[in-house]
Amino acid sequence: RTNADSPLLQGLNPEQRAAVTFTGGNVLVLAGAGSGKTRVLTTRIAWLLQTGQVSSGGILAVTFTNKAAREMVTRLAAMVPVSVRGMWIGTFHGLCNRMLRAHAASVGLPRQFQILDMQDQLSALKRLLKAHNVDTELVPPKKLQSFINSCKEEGLRAGDVPVRDAESRQRVELYQLYEQQCMREGVVDFGELMLRSYELLRDNAAVRQHYQQRFRHVLVDEFQDTNRLQYLWLRLIAGEAGNGRLQGTSSVMAVGDDDQSIYAFRGARVGNMADFVREFGVAQPIKLEQNYRSYSHILDAANALIAHNSQRLGKTLRTEQGAGEPLRIYEAPSDFAEAGWIVDEVRQLMQVDGFARQEIAILYRSNAQSRVLESALISAKVPYRIYGGLRFFERAEIKHALAYLRLLENPQDDTSFLRVVNFPARGIGQRSIETLQDEAGRGGQSLHAASASLAGRAGDKLRGFVDLLDAMRREAQGKPLREIVSLVLEESGLLDHYRGEKDGVDRVENLEELVNAAEAFIAQEGYGADATALPLDEHGVPLVQSPASQGVDLDAPFIEESAGDAAALGAVLGERPGEPAFLVDAETGETLSPLGAFLTHASLEAGDNQAQAGQEAIQLMTVHASKGLEFDAVFIAGLEEGLFPHYNSMSDRDGLEEERRLMYVAITRARKRLYLSHAQERMLNGQSQYNPPSRFLEELPEESVRWLTPRRGAKGADGDAGLGAGPSSFWSSADGSSSPGRRSGAGGSSSWQGHQPRQSADERAWREAASAPVPARRQGAGDAHGIRAGQKVFHPKFGEGQVLALEGAGDDAKAKVNFGRHGTKLLLLTVAKLTVV
Ligand code: ATP
Ligand code: MG
Repeated sequence: RTNADSPLLQGLNPEQRAAVTFTGGNVLVLAGAGSGKTRVLTTRIAWLLQTGQVSSGGILAVTFTNKAAREMVTRLAAMVPVSVRGMWIGTFHGLCNRMLRAHAASVGLPRQFQILDMQDQLSALKRLLKAHNVDTELVPPKKLQSFINSCKEEGLRAGDVPVRDAESRQRVELYQLYEQQCMREGVVDFGELMLRSYELLRDNAAVRQHYQQRFRHVLVDEFQDTNRLQYLWLRLIAGEAGNGRLQGTSSVMAVGDDDQSIYAFRGARVGNMADFVREFGVAQPIKLEQNYRSYSHILDAANALIAHNSQRLGKTLRTEQGAGEPLRIYEAPSDFAEAGWIVDEVRQLMQVDGFARQEIAILYRSNAQSRVLESALISAKVPYRIYGGLRFFERAEIKHALAYLRLLENPQDDTSFLRVVNFPARGIGQRSIETLQDEAGRGGQSLHAASASLAGRAGDKLRGFVDLLDAMRREAQGKPLREIVSLVLEESGLLDHYRGEKDGVDRVENLEELVNAAEAFIAQEGYGADATALPLDEHGVPLVQSPASQGVDLDAPFIEESAGDAAALGAVLGERPGEPAFLVDAETGETLSPLGAFLTHASLEAGDNQAQAGQEAIQLMTVHASKGLEFDAVFIAGLEEGLFPHYNSMSDRDGLEEERRLMYVAITRARKRLYLSHAQERMLNGQSQYNPPSRFLEELPEESVRWLTPRRGAKGADGDAGLGAGPSSFWSSADGSSSPGRRSGAGGSSSWQGHQPRQSADERAWREAASAPVPARRQGAGDAHGIRAGQKVFHPKFGEGQVLALEGAGDDAKAKVNFGRHGTKLLLLTVAKLTVV
């Protein structure tokens, strides 16, 4: 049964093997970055399946992102001939969504409930505040949003939140009203997915016991970043009887690294690890000490850095990969120069050192930093991809199209209604909309329903819109998803609108791409493009099936077995052999359409921290988004005090230690090369900032770094420290202090050829290069490139905006532009592709 010779176990070290084959109940793997935690977790699933200890329906695995879940499924399919049907692998949100879909009626949700992403949630809150005449100066919508979300993360409903004063009373009332609004509209936000699923398990014994019996093995990656509610959810899944006692019906493997806990701001609780050990009766955490990812200079730097933190469980990491190159540190005169340097190095890595494009990542602390880097990459014609930025499902035109589609599914969806009621323009003004909102508020109706009772021309126009929606809905009946999407794009007027726009080409292409996305979605679900229904699992939940795993169905007997369980819950299966089935609600018998499933898919994609794996492109992302990933070469940009560590977190020790863990995560993403940079001057939020180099640079061991520019504050740069150094020690000095004696100079003779330190001359050259491909459509010469304050302009990424101010001249000319929901940006006109609207 232990199958010690299994090929799955070959190549694992003894500790990894022990973790993979562990049979003694619950287990915690506590280990540093790159030690194979994720690999152990995936291999364990394969091993459990292969040795017949569980069928795929008995597995629940939680990953941190949808991308990680997809990767895990792909890896599994390569390791064992297993169907992923019935296997629950996903993020907490994805899994909760799946559970709620199966039990919508018992948690009081409409079958077709829609998911609000953060942006939708914010606009729903703004709408709420307006409807109740609350001054947004006094209650900023964003603050209310984070209040509500953190309540939900702690499992608190409005009624559970303690009220201390008038202010907190108002917040709690608004929370309550928001809950009512969401219920009325049939929408849930991300926090709600988790909370409602938790309440379902807590309050419904039959459902709870069903899932407890089903999931024999529960596996959780990145456990250090679980919040309180997620922990409590896991307890319920893993066999808590409702009286706080664990019955041990399933065995749980949690893997994590306390040094990589970087989501405290979202309620993550490292304390969950200690609670897990205690409450789940973990005898002895398994430690993995061998790092398989990075060369030792990189690992030494990471170890020395994190040694500055006081709150640690303590771990050791070593590598046998050899020393590799020392880390390169570069000081640029400005953020533009920094970006220019990075792009030069990137080209060098690709052209001279043969690194693959997608194996190079540029990391930064704040999203706002990406713009300058993007401009440099665009000018240099280096393809790049942004993780966590504006991705496909988040683009304005796509969100408009999805809003129409949502209204087909659920006419009560007021958020979507408001988004498109006058888009494309149909002469429905703000006043009419407000009247409609008042009317709907009085009657407790949806906006769609309230339109019927509005008088006058405004009423006629609104009814025209509602009629259009109803007509599209009728026409969509029985059509395949792809055709529904095309139909909506045409008949809503969206395609015509963008076709008529001067710069609408990209948007038209994106909309057309949505039709492809719909088709791909259906194909991926295992049915042809003309399918009008989705396959189900034994709970009547749509199956996510990876193309790689089709054909083999190891768990067929298991499905029969649990279909019995599901029947006990009152599930109605609409499945007949050989015929695609609809998703059927366990209680009401309602079906979920392919469109409904696609809309859910779109919401979850847009809410993910990471986009689809980028092929053949440099990867840009925040450090947060880089968790769990690895790249051959990594750049960490903007290492300045105030930026990284971020000024929000610099005032207290906890905040600073979280920033340091973030830096630890960043460093440990690199396999072979690591580049660190900072700029003397940086444009942020429209202002020049001059920040000293990050303290984290000071915390790196001398032997493992090489300064390409004279180190600031150094007393006399000399030597060439670190170069050609042999393998360094496993673990840098325990206190991580760096000796002030040896400084590396602005050396030339590196084994990484061809990089002279760049100063202002380089910046000029870079700016010249950057300004070369000025788009021809920019009218007028002049200093401000034909742009004047007050004008409306269009930017290919941020959309329409209004020019607030201009500054600088010639190549330095910048425009401050308000892009509405994208915020106010300061754009360098030689780079930004602005057009006057
Ligand atoms: P992180 O903390 O960053 O999430 P991790 O502990 O999850 O890291 P993995 O991503 O699982 O680490 O593994 C890091 C790298 O090391 C991967 O490329 C993995 O394939 C490789 N690796 C892990 N174990 C071994 C092994 N025994 N032999 C060879 N390579 C291994
Ligand atoms: Mg991992």
